[in-house]
Amino acid sequence: MRSSALVWFRRDLRCFDHAALHHALTRFDQVHCVFVFDTSILDALPSRVDRRIGFLWASLRELDEALDGLARGAGLAGGGLAIEVGLPQEVIPRLAAALGVACVCANRDYEPAARTRDGQVAARLEEVGIGFETFKDQVIFECDDVLSGARRPYSIFTPYCAAWMKALHRQGMPEYPVAPHAARLAVDPGRSRLPELTRLGFSDESLKRAPPAGMSAARDQSERFFGRIERYKVERDFPALDAGSRLSVHLRFGTISIRQLVRNALRHGGEGAQCWLTELVWREFYQMILWHHPRVVGENYRREFDSLVWERSPERFAAWCEGRTGYPIVDAAMRQFNATGWMHNRLRMVTASFLTKDLGIDWREGERYFADRLLDYDLAANNGGWQWVASTGCDAQPWFRIFNPATQSRRFDPEGLFIRGVLPELAALPRRFIHEPWKMNAAMQERTGVAIGRDYPAPIANHALARLRTLERFARVVL
Ligand SMILES: Cc1cc2nc3c(=O)[nH]c(=O)nc-3n(C[C@H](O)[C@H](O)[C@H](O)COP(=O)(O)OP(=O)(O)OC[C@H]3O[C@@H](n4cnc5c(N)ncnc54)[C@H](O)[C@@H]3O)c2cc1C
Repeated sequence: MRSSALVWFRRDLRCFDHAALHHALTRFDQVHCVFVFDTSILDALPSRVDRRIGFLWASLRELDEALDGLARGAGLAGGGLAIEVGLPQEVIPRLAAALGVACVCANRDYEPAARTRDGQVAARLEEVGIGFETFKDQVIFECDDVLSGARRPYSIFTPYCAAWMKALHRQGMPEYPVAPHAARLAVDPGRSRLPELTRLGFSDESLKRAPPAGMSAARDQSERFFGRIERYKVERDFPALDAGSRLSVHLRFGTISIRQLVRNALRHGGEGAQCWLTELVWREFYQMILWHHPRVVGENYRREFDSLVWERSPERFAAWCEGRTGYPIVDAAMRQFNATGWMHNRLRMVTASFLTKDLGIDWREGERYFADRLLDYDLAANNGGWQWVASTGCDAQPWFRIFNPATQSRRFDPEGLFIRGVLPELAALPRRFIHEPWKMNAAMQERTGVAIGRDYPAPIANHALARLRTLERFARVVL
């Protein structure tokens, strides 16, 4: 009798170097593929125009076609991806039973809600005698793969990173080819197809506003980036240069393989590639932290900060969200973010620091705002990033180190190129005022045509005073 399996795609929307698909194809005679639009996630999204859904939709369309192409290339009548809508806890066991598969295979997801969901799916499958196997795919090292000498999870990045690199050189990385085994893909002519975005409850604008999606866009983006990776170390902090890879959204949805990226970086070598590799290790560090400490979702990693008293200020929070703080670097970052779903790493640090240390607002409010809008939103990285900046996190910025937004602006956008590009009302300001326009006297405001309070907001916080308040807030709980 022919054995069969169902591969459940989640954040791994590609059909090359894919652990679950490779394992299923090499162990079973026939392999079906499915993706489920999880209605519990879709329904909770605050906007019906969501670029991430557009990105996901376009990536699924490409994956479906690519699986079909692989199957045809292997001499089959066609193949593809079944695309279901509903609760995976119900859809997956029902589909698996209807197809009569022996096993459901998926790549592991480390977020607490996903772990609960997978536990429920596994239990329901078990009731009907179907196996559920998961594989490591979205990271090089997961869970307990990299432990300290005392066999404990690391809480400091530098030794974790060193151990990670050592483990990489010791163990190498597996490859999970798909194409050579494509003849085992199932031909499922009756499968459910990709629904229209509107049927999912989202506007077609979601697709129009999404960046290029799918494996092909990831490959193009990655090729472009590797062509300039030498400059990464030197240029990555300057938002106007945009020297990062911009692969975060592809890593989030798995339209690119982390193993392939690490292999390419190692092959390339040099300072830029080494520095970039370290960023990929940060990604795994936060995944590891989330796995070992799922309570960080909503809680400070460092419990001693639980008694911090944050400020409640809906008006100032709204000014931050809308880019009306009077600090050009913060406002430009937030306005670009609201318009595109993208924010440069340095600006994520600057805006998060402004919210938590200049406005004294709880990091959880900013984290939620980012989570709702970031194209590359990833729970582990976003939570880790926010807690790093707020100083409540694991191996975080010390609480007494507080970014000065104007200094950050002068350092990382010296000519104000980024600011001018996003805030046209400030485009004509001379270099010495672009970072602190409130310092212009009346004559200068007249000359530049920018009246503070009329054409551009007056600062909503005085950094020097805010800094002292923050130092007091933290000192009260730690000293
Ligand atoms: C407050 C805050 C919130 C953040 N939220 C997210 C988020 O939701 N999703 C997300 O992917 N990253 C997040 N980051 C990390 C970082 O800002 C982005 O990964 C990076 O800006 C993406 O751009 P890139 O792909 O050009 O990165 P590159 O500089 O090219 O880095 C390569 C990859 O490494 C990973 N990476 C880089 N820096 C970090 C980091 N500090 N922590 C974890 N992974 C990292 C990303 O996957 C990134 O694509 C956040 C950082 C901060 C300070």
